[in-house]
Amino acid sequence: MGYNVAIDGPAGAGKSTIAKLVAKEKGFIYVDTGAMYRGLAVYFLKKGLKKADVPGIIEACRDAEVTISYDNGIQQVYLNGENVTRLLRTEEVGNMASHISAIPEVRQKLLELQRSLASEQNVIMDGRDIGTNILPGANVKIYLTASVETRANRRYRELKEKGEPCDLEKITKDIRERDERDMNRETAPLKQADDAILIDSSDMTIQEVVSKICSYCNI
Ligand code: C5P
Repeated sequence: MGYNVAIDGPAGAGKSTIAKLVAKEKGFIYVDTGAMYRGLAVYFLKKGLKKADVPGIIEACRDAEVTISYDNGIQQVYLNGENVTRLLRTEEVGNMASHISAIPEVRQKLLELQRSLASEQNVIMDGRDIGTNILPGANVKIYLTASVETRANRRYRELKEKGEPCDLEKITKDIRERDERDMNRETAPLKQADDAILIDSSDMTIQEVVSKICSYCNI
């Protein structure tokens, strides 16, 4: 069994930025589970499936194989053997991922992959149900959050830096809707595990959050 750190929290809380830095400092493998849902979302979008077509998505799920590998420590997502990593970080794919991740068959598809990665090595894994469902026995559980305004501003700056079209009002609306879906779905909703440490990063620097999490890792 590897040493497992679970980080859950809403969209834009800074989970991936923080988890990557903790991974570097502690020598853990960083597992980005959102990227796996995004990989499946790319597949469904390519097939022209609509988010409301749940039977079609469940059917298509059978032929979708998501795997990951690491290139210089950076997670790569493969969909039926094709590297789709560069297609994952758009708002369209994120929204589709948020919809399809409410479908139990979709979650089931990724559950084994996530658990097996954590059983083989020391990982810091981020997502929505890692501490509550995927790795209930994780050595450290963090629930990382920030205000909606802070998260929307961060996403806006991130997209702007990449030169992608962005509109702060729309991003704020999307974040609110995504929170609503992630927190209120029936299967594996986003919530703080009873034994998770709550960190609100609204008024913290990245380094402060990283140091705090590292201080809980007794390895
Ligand atoms: O974290 P990220 O924004 O990449 O995740 C995309 C979507 O995938 C989220 O909005 C969430 O609905 C879903 N997700 C999930 N469970 C996870 C990781 C992501 O439901 N473990």
